[in-house]
Amino acid sequence: MLMLAILQVAAVMATAVADGAIDFSRYHKYAATETLFRKLEADYPQLAKLHTIGKSVEGRELYVLRVSSDVGSGAERSLGKPMFKYVANMHGNEAVGHALVVFLAQYLLQNYGSEERVTRLVNATDLWLMPSLNPDGFERAREGQCYIVEQNGGEGRANANGKDLNRNFPDQFHDRQDRASLLRGREPETLAAMTWIVSNPFVLSGNLHGGSVVASYPFDDSAKPPLFGSKYSAAPDDAVFRRLATTYASSHRVMRTGRVCQGDNFPGGITNGAKWYDVPGGMEDFNYLHSNCFEITMELSCCKFPAGNKLPGEWQLNKESLFRFMEATHMGFRGRVVDDESGEPVGEAVIAVDGIEHNVTTTDRGEFWRLMVDGKFSFRVHAHGYVSTEPQSVEVDNGEEGKWKAKEMKVIRLRREGSPAKAPEPAPVMPDKSVPSSTLRPDGFLKDPEFEYHHFEELRSFLYFYARLYPNISRVYSIGKSVQGRELYVLEISDNPGAHELLKPEFKYVANMHGNEAVGREMLLLLAQYLLEGYGRNETITRLVKSTSIHIMPTMNPDGFEAAREGDKQGYTGRENSHGQDLNRNFPDQYDKRIAKTKRQPETQVISRYVTSSCV
Ligand code: ZN
Repeated sequence: MLMLAILQVAAVMATAVADGAIDFSRYHKYAATETLFRKLEADYPQLAKLHTIGKSVEGRELYVLRVSSDVGSGAERSLGKPMFKYVANMHGNEAVGHALVVFLAQYLLQNYGSEERVTRLVNATDLWLMPSLNPDGFERAREGQCYIVEQNGGEGRANANGKDLNRNFPDQFHDRQDRASLLRGREPETLAAMTWIVSNPFVLSGNLHGGSVVASYPFDDSAKPPLFGSKYSAAPDDAVFRRLATTYASSHRVMRTGRVCQGDNFPGGITNGAKWYDVPGGMEDFNYLHSNCFEITMELSCCKFPAGNKLPGEWQLNKESLFRFMEATHMGFRGRVVDDESGEPVGEAVIAVDGIEHNVTTTDRGEFWRLMVDGKFSFRVHAHGYVSTEPQSVEVDNGEEGKWKAKEMKVIRLRREGSPAKAPEPAPVMPDKSVPSSTLRPDGFLKDPEFEYHHFEELRSFLYFYARLYPNISRVYSIGKSVQGRELYVLEISDNPGAHELLKPEFKYVANMHGNEAVGREMLLLLAQYLLEGYGRNETITRLVKSTSIHIMPTMNPDGFEAAREGDKQGYTGRENSHGQDLNRNFPDQYDKRIAKTKRQPETQVISRYVTSSCV
């Protein structure tokens, strides 16, 4: 009995500890937030790190507190760990989100290690908490001010330049999409957010507002809003967005009714942004269109800046929703794309799900996260310089709400274009014994020469064919790879192939460094056949091969050759390598020091090494 009583007391204390040490009854203005976050950073050096993404018009820092189990161990994000962010208060007078983010930061840090849900979340997710994207507006805004009463942004909705930040992002329908237009006319806060969004692999984001109670999802804007009313503007990932909005709204016992503030009627407590009202230049659409991040906007209270004594109630209403939404970072499937040969990560690879016109791309560590609803899907992976994958099937099971599980990283291996790595070497073709022609034809060949162009695969087969047919006097080797991964083959012809012999000179022919200058390439293939067939049958050839190691490189620019067109007389297509560099202007120059400093192409580097190392 006594034991039970002690357990009960312990249980009560354990729940009390969870919320206990946090003051939920007041707002933290700019200075107080800064002080609190610095204290959290000092108290939890293994878990919390204060960052700033830039400054406001009036010079306030745009603070973000990173909460992650990776902070202590060198701070580098663990491979595969997804990034999440909450951004609040971009309308400076919408203050509930600001308060919730400040509470959430304390809650996560104080309960890490004691509350299982918090510990799992912080271990599995890189969380970034931004209480205010508009600290200047927040300083002007006044507690208790529910609605906009002053004009010209005086109430703190806008930034210090009087600009509404949630109309200040580049717009897909109304702005030009070139680089200059993306940057022109942006406020400092907007530019800081844009840079932060596009330069980090965020997966999911919550954008916290006030003035209504609803979860609103992309698109926020439509191409042509009707003259009266508004219309639904579906994003390609509409199903995912509806699910995400529902995740937040359904755990919020007021929001889910959809009828909270005057005039509201949001079935399920969610709405398509444009259907509610068109917001050109919003942050939510920018995330989706310019990064891999999916963002939902949460409107948290009818009154934009309610009195502080309302905050404990707001925390209770939103706590479960805030957690479930962060946990939704683990929806869908995830993986890592690597080079099949080297195992190195492939960055900027595209993950394209069939039937959804929206791709995500891999990080420079090859990682990707694809938020998806439950179901069976197929996807492909594409990357520059690689062969695209066949459709891969994936079955997504997100489990029950609130019982998320971290997903495995699928490893997807990509084969380089033109890489012979996985293609088996051509099967050996034995000499045709039925043709007893040991005498050379009048033209010096044993067999009909092929007077036609050999593309890369044919060229490769040709070299291996003859090297196998005449193994005692020839061998194929590669000195490296082109930009697109094609081997740079050399055929050596010698009575002792592979050996450097004392006093025996070595000779080389290199053709086709301008990929569209193709005759030399074919001449060398014919020459190789001529020498190999003539050895032992033609006295001059036999003497030459016995006294000289002959190295034949039919192409130094196989990528260019593949791009070039037969019949082209004066053109440039294929002249350069696949980086657009003229290889015959790419070697160090004895006179021109500028060329000495230009970057050497892979083909040039390979052959420079070859020439200086092998004394051919
Ligand atoms: Zn707002």
